Amino acid sequence: MIAEVIVDVMSSEVDRVFDYNIPSFLPDNLTGYRVLVPFGNRKIEGYVVGIKETTDCPEDKLKSIISTLDSYPIILDELIGLMHYMKDKMYLRLIDGIRLAVPSQIRNSKDKLERIITLDDTKVAEYMSTLSSRSKNPKLVIEYLTNQPTEKYTTLSTRYGNSVINKMLEYGVLIESKKRVNRVSHSQSSDTKHQLTDLQQKAVNSILSNHDKPTVLFGVTGSGKTEVYMNVIERVLESNKTALMLVPEISLTPQMARVFNARFGDSVAVLHSALSVGEKHDEWFRIYRGEARIVVGARSAIFAPIKNLGVIIIDEEHDNSYLSDSNPRYLTHNIAEYRAKINNCPLVLGSATPSVETFHKAKSGQYNLVEMPVRVNSRPMPPIEIIDMCEQFRLGNVSMLSTQLLDKLHETIDNGKQAILFINRRGFSSYLMCRECSYIPKCTDCDVSLVYHKSEGVLKCHYCGKKFRALTKCPECGSDSIKLGATGTQQVVEVLKEHFPNTPIFRLDNDSVTTKDAYSKILGEFGATSPSILVGTQMVTKGHDFPSVTLVGIVDADISLFNYSYKASETTFQLMTQVAGRAGRSKDNGYVVLQTYVPKNPVYITCANYDYLKFYDKEINLREVTKYPPYANIIRLLVTSEDDELAKKLTHKLIMALKEYRVQFGKEFYFLEAMKSPINKIKNKHRYQIVMRYSANINDTVLAKIHNLLEENKINKVSVFVETNPISLS
Ligand code: ADP
Ligand code: ZN
Ligand code: ZN
Repeated sequence: MIAEVIVDVMSSEVDRVFDYNIPSFLPDNLTGYRVLVPFGNRKIEGYVVGIKETTDCPEDKLKSIISTLDSYPIILDELIGLMHYMKDKMYLRLIDGIRLAVPSQIRNSKDKLERIITLDDTKVAEYMSTLSSRSKNPKLVIEYLTNQPTEKYTTLSTRYGNSVINKMLEYGVLIESKKRVNRVSHSQSSDTKHQLTDLQQKAVNSILSNHDKPTVLFGVTGSGKTEVYMNVIERVLESNKTALMLVPEISLTPQMARVFNARFGDSVAVLHSALSVGEKHDEWFRIYRGEARIVVGARSAIFAPIKNLGVIIIDEEHDNSYLSDSNPRYLTHNIAEYRAKINNCPLVLGSATPSVETFHKAKSGQYNLVEMPVRVNSRPMPPIEIIDMCEQFRLGNVSMLSTQLLDKLHETIDNGKQAILFINRRGFSSYLMCRECSYIPKCTDCDVSLVYHKSEGVLKCHYCGKKFRALTKCPECGSDSIKLGATGTQQVVEVLKEHFPNTPIFRLDNDSVTTKDAYSKILGEFGATSPSILVGTQMVTKGHDFPSVTLVGIVDADISLFNYSYKASETTFQLMTQVAGRAGRSKDNGYVVLQTYVPKNPVYITCANYDYLKFYDKEINLREVTKYPPYANIIRLLVTSEDDELAKKLTHKLIMALKEYRVQFGKEFYFLEAMKSPINKIKNKHRYQIVMRYSANINDTVLAKIHNLLEENKINKVSVFVETNPISLS
């Protein structure tokens, strides 16, 4: 038989299947096995992705597999199918797909084994007769193991001495075996199971009866989505199937895992990037062996080796972390749809603020839509007050905190409660803004905000690459108060200390969270200190449930709104809704202060009214008129190489071919340009990009063309990455 093998070499040129003979001492069906093969004059690792009877490879060229590297297939058949799908539809290299399915931590780690001792009853009498009356310890060991049939070697040897145990093992009265230990400790907390509300029950039923299309679970914060997920999973387990549950950030995985552990015990495995190599190994194999039937994890857990899936759930489906923006680039939703289809199981996309693209599919009937518009305990949503920061400036308040926010902070602290101040920063670039009239420089060609590049002192459009001089005077009102619209966490903490010298202030951002444990440590301290204030970036927005937090202040909402991305409004709406949801979660009512320079912006108005539907209607109309997703596709081809000339040449060749090709689509092709990437060089690799935007109707043909073009133009030392609707074009 012939094996189709993908070799473990990171290069596009060898990213194809190579045929190898399967020698007679190996089993015929090697699909999914990791093998050692001759390649050139080396021996390297490879993966068998298919078996066939014949090959076109001439007999004298055909080499044989040297050996298998494990005693079991390491890649499930389902995932091999997925690798091919990802290559065909998402233009990923097979080896990239394989590395997702078999992470390096799995390949380079071992089980942790523990020595376990048992007694051989048949030899006890004979052994006892050899002991002198003075040797006490061997007798104690026998007594110990008569009462308790197995014990760890280490326990016995510390108690009775190494040499005693070793001698008894030698004699054969003790028998040693090895037991696998799990390095991940799963917490045991108590579970409160709720009687489902009617809305929740309806949601569960609807999800379970929709196998052929994904279900969007659109439920406001506090509507009880988690309870719905857990009920669905319970039903799935009852029918002997398994479940995959994805949550956005690593920081949230442990929290969700705790809730799931409490309900489902040991059948839960967690997968996220904060696990150590050993921990990841253990969880991965517990899933592989079928010991864990529920996987809770971050994005990459979508590739978990879980068999017989009965449901896939993507919680907070709008979250940007589901789009992998470094190699390999993929959208988790697409992978989930593939796996759900292969397993013929439901896929749930849950959110209080679904992504515009997802909601569009729900509205058009492509997805099943389930709504939970009210909170379970009928707690009101906290009111959101919008503060006009331009007015504050005109009134002479040049501080980053409005008088209203300060008043509310005083009130909160006086009541012994807690406040969270959100600094909207991470992942967003800086822009310039007039503090008096809120004018923001935009690209003359693209109608997006320009990004301020401090090092060069220029403004750049991240969509077309055009450069503009950085302004010092406002062209609208003439004011010279043009400032960088971005605030640091540290600055806010300083200001707060002046106003609240006796109140504990905690800080949560990339600078304060430098270790794996710092995050939960800071949150733990904040949770235990009342009154207090927590200042932080995006890290403070997610999931937390602090009952004493009654005030949420959004210091600078606009940073995400004026981000250059076409998703800026959407992201802002989602973010504001999420932060607001941190206030007033228990019996005390919450309050939200949102500071902005554009108080009339519809994003804020709809957000303050908790009116997602209205926001969506406005946004989807805008996307249709301005031709952005889901009505159009944005593709970026990122060309990178250490050799600047080679990268430039290939970019040129590709853009010429695409320009020619573009002609046949006329007006359906909205934009096509090649440029230097805004970040010219990363890790010594020069970066060029081709950005195009075209009607969603011609998506398949254009993508096929791009794919062919890239196949024909593979060049040594130059990589080209294809990104669909990227969040960042940096
Ligand atoms: P979401 O994920 O939609 O924001 P949660 O699942 O966190 O909402 O639920 C909000 C709160 O309501 C939680 O404290 C949860 O324990 C509680 N809850 C959920 N379902 C019920 C129910 N059927 N009856 C009573 N309380 C519930
Ligand atoms: Zn101005
Ligand atoms: Zn532009």
